[in-house]
Order: sequence, then structure tokens, then C-alpha cells
Amino acid sequence: MVRGRGATPAVEDVRLPAPGPGELRVRIRAAGICHSDLAMVDGTVAPAYPLVLGHEATGVVAEAGPGTRLAVGTPVVLNWAPACRACWHCRHGEPWLCAANTGASVARGETADGGPLQVTLGLGALAEEVVVPERAAIEVPAGLPPEQAALLGCAVLTGTGAVRNTARVAPGESVVVIGLGGVGLAVLTAARRAGAGPILAVDVAEAKRDLALAAGATDFLRSDDTLAKEVRARTEGRGVDHAFECVGRSVTIRAAWRSTRRGGAVTVVGMGGKDDLVSLSALDIFHSARTLRSSVYGSSDPDREVPELAAALADGSLDLAPLVSGAIPLDEAPAALDRLARGEGARWVVTFPD
Ligand SMILES: [Zn+2]
Ligand SMILES: [Zn+2]
Repeated sequence: MVRGRGATPAVEDVRLPAPGPGELRVRIRAAGICHSDLAMVDGTVAPAYPLVLGHEATGVVAEAGPGTRLAVGTPVVLNWAPACRACWHCRHGEPWLCAANTGASVARGETADGGPLQVTLGLGALAEEVVVPERAAIEVPAGLPPEQAALLGCAVLTGTGAVRNTARVAPGESVVVIGLGGVGLAVLTAARRAGAGPILAVDVAEAKRDLALAAGATDFLRSDDTLAKEVRARTEGRGVDHAFECVGRSVTIRAAWRSTRRGGAVTVVGMGGKDDLVSLSALDIFHSARTLRSSVYGSSDPDREVPELAAALADGSLDLAPLVSGAIPLDEAPAALDRLARGEGARWVVTFPD
């Protein structure tokens, strides 16, 4: 939990309400630590505090409120953008933009001393338990490795959806992925599954090389001023068909833009700050004929796509082990946030004993 903008996260006791009508209490088995959690700590996305962090998790239904469908004991993956199925976006095939999901934090429960409490994206999943609307819980098969299944709820759904739904990468197309956190590595894995090639992985940290190659990259490049030139050298001088920016900074969005061929597409997956402006010339926009777009939650419908990914995890056709840097107990989560901020590792996943 984090008490205020920029405060040091700490493990604290909180009180959650009993599940009301249409709500579930879910016992968390594993919860990933995402870059968006850092954005919650430093206030980039302006949540309210005190705030329980965490929005990428798997668990088991522990208590079912009145009028719910899922039985106690059902394994689930949590969904931080559950679709209302009634708003304009939901009715027009864009459930990832559901108008019912507003704000980075939602009031739920109270602190140990009785004060108001917020939970990240309606979940607050870096915790032993959550109370959530049933539509935020997606049933998955029993027996999945929890530290991999947790990633289906954010990094993997986002990365896979960016490749399949937003960019629609086709076999043989060339791809560059800039920023190799959990989402960037998931983009690499999805690009390989899509039959793309070459798949160029880019990061400032040389230590990401082996992770990138294990996740699906064909080449690893250090991020620096010569990036666009090096990408062109590997794509017959053109630049890639698809660039994925998984950092959320103007400098890397521009690097992605310059690394893409004329007529190619840049997909921004990273979430950046509102004061970080991207500058492109009017002539460049016209002449390059490139597309610049964003991918929110992988332009995905989690109710349909999480079960598909879970099935692939179950049958072994999807292996997320390269994305998991380590399973840690909850009291090591604050230190893992620091490591993530320093760019160390891929995904640190908090696991809870059965
Ligand atoms: Zn996330
Ligand atoms: Zn909606």
C-alpha cells in the first residue's frame, strides 16, 4: 500500500467489505508488479491515496456475493478493465475503452485505523485478498502455474493484443520492440507466435539481451542514437513494418517512428506522462505515410482472450516462464518496485502460500 504521492510503499493491514450483490471475494495466489504500479506511486496517473497497489493477478473465489455465477473455489484471472457491455464503446466492439472504467483508483474498504482506502484500477491485487465485481474475474482452468497465469491479466493480454488486435502483425512482417519490461517481452512472444521476422528487441540495458532472445527476439539492439540506422541495416534499408513502443516516453516514441518504414505502423503500448510532448513535423507525417496509434489493454476483450491465452498456457503452446524474473513474498514487493524502477529483471511476481 502507498500512503501518498511519492511515499514509500509498505505492507499494511486493511479492511475489505464483505462481497455485496454481484461481487466476489478472491484469495490471491499470485500478483505481478507492473510499471503502472510505479506510475501509481509517483503519481503519473493521479490516483487517490492511501492506495493498495496491484492490478495483474490470479486467485481463487473465496466467497461469492448474492446473485453471482462463479462458485467458491473457481480459479480466476483478474481484469482491470471489465466491460459494462452497455456503453457506446462496449456496444461498438471496443470493450477496452469501456466508459464505466474511469480513474486509476476506486474507493473500497478502509485502512486499519478506519480511514478511507482506494484500490488500484478497482482491484488492489498486491494483497492477500480482493473484493471485486464478478465481471472483473475471468474463469481459467485449474492447475496453471500461478506466477505465469497472473501475467495474463495485464502484461500478456496487453502485449499479445497489441500484436494481434491493434497492429495485426502478419507472418513474415518485421517488428521492432522498444522497452523490454513485462509488456515488451510479451510483445516479443506474441510477435514470434504471429510468425513475424526479423523481431528486433531494443532496451537501454544490455542485461535484457538474454531475456529478449528467450522471449522470442531474433536480434537484440542497445537503445541509442544510432537505433534507426541499425534497424534499417537489418531491414534492407527500409525500416520495420511494425514498431512497438513499450516505454511511454516521447524520445522512444520518436525512435520507434524513425525505425519504421514508409507506410509502416507505430503502436504505442507504454503509458506516458501528460507533459511529455512528442514532436513530429507536418512534412514527415505526410511524407512517411506512417500510422501512429495506441494500444489500450491490447485492444482486447479480456472475457474472450484471457481464456484463449489460459488454454495456450495449459497446453504448453504458450510459455511465459521467460517473463517471470522471480516469485517473491509480499514483504519483498517494495524492494521489487525499486528493482523494476532501475530496469532490473522482467516481471517480479508476488506469490502467496496455498
Ligand atoms: Zn499493468
Ligand atoms: Zn462499457
